[in-house]
Amino acid sequence: HRVFELRKVSKQYGSDPAVHALVDVDLSLDRGEWLSITGPSGSGKSTLLNIIGCLDRPTSGSYFIDGIDTANLTDKERAGLRSQRIGFVFQAFHLLPYRTVLENVMLAEVYRKQPNSGRRARALAAIERVGLSHRADFLPTKLSGGEKQRVAIARALIGSPSLLLCDEPTGNLDSKSSAALLDLFEKLNQNGITLVIVTHDEHIAGRAARRVHVVDGSLTDVTNEQNGKKSTGP
Ligand code: ADP
Ligand code: ADP
Repeated sequence: HRVFELRKVSKQYGSDPAVHALVDVDLSLDRGEWLSITGPSGSGKSTLLNIIGCLDRPTSGSYFIDGIDTANLTDKERAGLRSQRIGFVFQAFHLLPYRTVLENVMLAEVYRKQPNSGRRARALAAIERVGLSHRADFLPTKLSGGEKQRVAIARALIGSPSLLLCDEPTGNLDSKSSAALLDLFEKLNQNGITLVIVTHDEHIAGRAARRVHVVDGSLTDVTNEQNGKKSTGP
């Protein structure tokens, strides 16, 4: 089962001169895979993630998600697809400061217009998946950076998305919290979550089973034999 597929996707911004942010990109991911995306600043990573996440449309080429061709969908249909099938995690945690962990996660369901019944149970289950049950009633200000990012991940997972998209998830974390988050990503992936992570963190990029590198809007598959293995360093 293919979660998404880009066929000859190009994206340009403006004209005269146009910025060619993506050029003829082919990329697909199967259910349960873990892909990391690396590349220098300005190479097109965010543009790629925005297209995978149905936040933006290609200028040319095709984009399929769960076998659905997104070309002919209205903005409303695309928004529906996004909220049903995709979870987003960003560098900044975007938590509401005066709401508890549980409330922050439950609110994701309010926005997704999910039924009231079972909301609390689903939120608690998502919080448990990220190992934060003991913090459910805490305010974000009482949490470490790593814990805040776990809340953001729980919030992204609550709708059981087909795909979790993460843009520099460890960008605001120290190396210890980053390592702990990497363990969580590994656990989630082992439990069947399909992951796409844009990162500058070599540890994360190396742990993913597949890896692509973006330069000037073009993609190279740089998966090597070491990918997907834990480093055996000190
Ligand atoms: P990255 O995420 O790798 O830093 P981006 O996808 O953000 O790269 O940007 C790729 C190129 O497209 C850059 O040259 C950037 O300036 C340009 N770009 C990105 N978004 C826009 C936009 N909305 N309008 C104009 N140019 C943009
Ligand atoms: P990242 O740090 O992930 O590479 P950026 O800082 O490049 O992200 O971009 C953040 C947002 O701003 C993205 O959604 C991108 O599309 C947009 N953006 C990037 N470059 C430009 C630009 N030159 N003009 C307008 N929007 C841009």
